[in-house]
Parts: sequence; C-alpha cells; structure tokens
Amino acid sequence: MKDKLESKSQSNNSIYMDNAASTPVNSEVINDMMPYLFEHYGNPSSLHRMGRQAALAISKSRMRIAKLINADPSEIYFTSGGTESNNLSIIGSAKKIRKENPKCNRLLTSAIEHESILETVKYIQNELGFVIDYVPSSRNGFVDLVTFKEMITKETGLVTIMLVNNEIGTIQPIKELVKYAKSVSKEIIFHSDSVQALGKIPIDVEELGVDMLSLSSHKINGPKGVGALYLKKGILIEPIIYGGGQEIRLRSGTENVASIVGFGKACEIYRKKIGPYNSHLMQLQKYFVERINNEIPEAKINGSLENRIWNNLNYSFNGINGEDLLIKLDELGLEVSTGSACSSKRKKKASHVLESIGLSYDEISSSIRFSLGIQNSIEEINTATDILKRAILEIKNSK
Ligand SMILES: *Cc1c(COP(=O)(O)O)cnc(C)c1O
Repeated sequence: MKDKLESKSQSNNSIYMDNAASTPVNSEVINDMMPYLFEHYGNPSSLHRMGRQAALAISKSRMRIAKLINADPSEIYFTSGGTESNNLSIIGSAKKIRKENPKCNRLLTSAIEHESILETVKYIQNELGFVIDYVPSSRNGFVDLVTFKEMITKETGLVTIMLVNNEIGTIQPIKELVKYAKSVSKEIIFHSDSVQALGKIPIDVEELGVDMLSLSSHKINGPKGVGALYLKKGILIEPIIYGGGQEIRLRSGTENVASIVGFGKACEIYRKKIGPYNSHLMQLQKYFVERINNEIPEAKINGSLENRIWNNLNYSFNGINGEDLLIKLDELGLEVSTGSACSSKRKKKASHVLESIGLSYDEISSSIRFSLGIQNSIEEINTATDILKRAILEIKNSK
C-alpha cells in the first residue's frame, strides 16, 4: 500500500513490525495538528475567539471519534490514552457502585487483559473492597463462555473484557458476553478495552451493547498521550482527576487540543480506509503465515488464526529463546516484540496471556509477536522472513 507512511517505517533502515505497541503518525494527522500548536493555541475554556476556535476543534474531533464507533458525540470523553480510559472507567464506576449499590461489589474480567486493566482491578480490590473474578481463556485465546456464564452473579456490578487481545490478536465475542451479562442483571456495567480493535475491526457500540469502551490514538497512526472513553448516555461514573471540570466534569485538565485534533483526524482516515487497510493487512498476514509455515519448521502459531485481527501474528520458535531472537532480529534490522511491550522492560516476566491460554514455559519464552502496520509491504514481509530464518540459524549455530 502506497501510503504516506511508507518512508517512515524504513527511515532507520529497519523493518518495523511492532505496530501493536505503537505506530508512526500519519503525515495528514501532523498537518492537521500543527495549527493548534502554532496559531490557535488558546485554551478551549477561554471565551475569546482563540479559545472558541480550540473548543470548536475539540467538538469536531469528538464527532469524528463518535462516528467511527457509532456513538453520540456527547458520549465521548477525551483522556490521556488507553491506560487512563481504563483507569477512569473502572475506578470511576467502582466508586459509584460502592456508594450507591454496595451489594454489587464483584468485578468480572479475563486473565488475558492488558496490564492497565489487571493493575486497575487489583487497585479496586485492595482499595475499594471489590471481589475480582477472572474468567479463563481457551487454548485458542478466547474467553471461555461456559465459565463466563457461571461466574456472572447477581453481585456482579462490573464486567471488563477486552475486544481484541494485544498479544495474540484474538477478537472476543463481546456482543454475546454483554447480552448474557445483561440478561442476568440490567444493573451490570459492561466495559471493554477496545484499544487494539479500533480501526482494525468495525466497532458499533449500539450493536455491541457495551456501556463503556476505551480507545487510544497512537495505535492508529495518531499521536501518543491521547485517547477517549466512550461512556453510554445515562451511565454515571465518578472522576478520578479533579480540577477545572473539563469534559463535563469527568476529566479535569486543559485539553490536549493538538493531539485531540490529531486523534480525530486519525479516526476519520481509518473510517474511510478501514476496508483497504484491512485487505492490505490480510494479504500481508496470509503471505507471512505461508512463508513462515513453509520455511521455518520451528515455528508454531499462538492463538487462533480465525477471529483474529489481520495485523497480529504471535509465534513460538521451538528451541529458541525469544529474547535472544528479538535481539538478533533487531541487529539484523527487524523490530518486533516478545509478547507485550509494557512488560518487556521490566525484569523477565513470562507473558500472562500466553500462560493463561495454556502454553508451556518453553513455548512462552520462545515467543515473538509480529504486529503489522498499514505502512508494511509484501517486500518487507519477504525481507523479514529471510531475516527471521537467518537469525534462527545463527542462534542455533552459536550454541
Ligand atoms: C496499548 C494498549 C493500552 C494502553 O494504551 P495507551 O494509550 O498506550 O495508554 C491499553 N490496552 C490495550 C489492549 C493496548 O494495546
């Protein structure tokens, strides 16, 4: 795909396949952001013209984000990213439930959530007295439906299950889960971390039936440090940041105007191009799988290939240490990740996702995530496969 992003991915002469961690910012996005840094730099809360221009730009972005997920603009709240949206939705609703509905103090989540969910639910367990239930997932990487149903009780006040997993790309059956949860109790608030789903699969909040949804800009070629929370009309939660009362008193702090504009533009681009982007990624993924399966006997895919987004491939390489492989690939010009970027800087911790879907220690420690971006090309898949083969050979020979 000849996109304005293509040169970016090769600017440092290496192939970037870590797009689930972050993506290059689209040049059209940058162009739209610039005026809000240089010319229209007013505070959107100010009543003068400069302020009103900034406020108008924020409304336009709100509409664009709402349109991509079939929400009403009034249901979109800007935050500093996916992590904050997850914190706000879970802590904010837990605080409300504790005050108004204290009997419903159970939260149901999955064992394969992002750290920003897992750490937040630990917080409401320790600080707000919630009881946390973790639904396991199948070997294929899907939340186990039978156990999910067993675990939903009349005391469940909150459910949070991600729409797409960031390590293995599997798409969870959120619509069915919501439907079941609401059939047990209408009071249950259903949240979904949809950061990896945005722009990769169509999201329709009406159809999914969710109450809250977390979104982030930098996974869809927008700037970092900005995201949004979809909060369905009528669902009341408490803030976690207090101050000037921006974002209808739910998220205080002067709005990150330029980045909000950039996020809106990125959503607009993805809304128009989701079809071609996906067919491009599908072509890349299928070709990459074919080459790896045919030429790398050590490789075994993790997670189902069905119901998976097109940009993600997670493989274990039998007998190879994943971290050694990552470093070797980096040396040879291929940038990937082992599991989740957030945990990779900390001292070695096995991927909780791969562990949870039942992989052995050896399988987990030999795993690599390739996450493709719209800027990647077939030529890059060819080069990447060659690099991968060479890296595995060199590691084997050095033993
Ligand atoms: C990246 C990511 C986040 C965090 O989003 P930030 O904007 O980086 O804070 C949350 N959940 C998932 C599934 C992610 O992939």
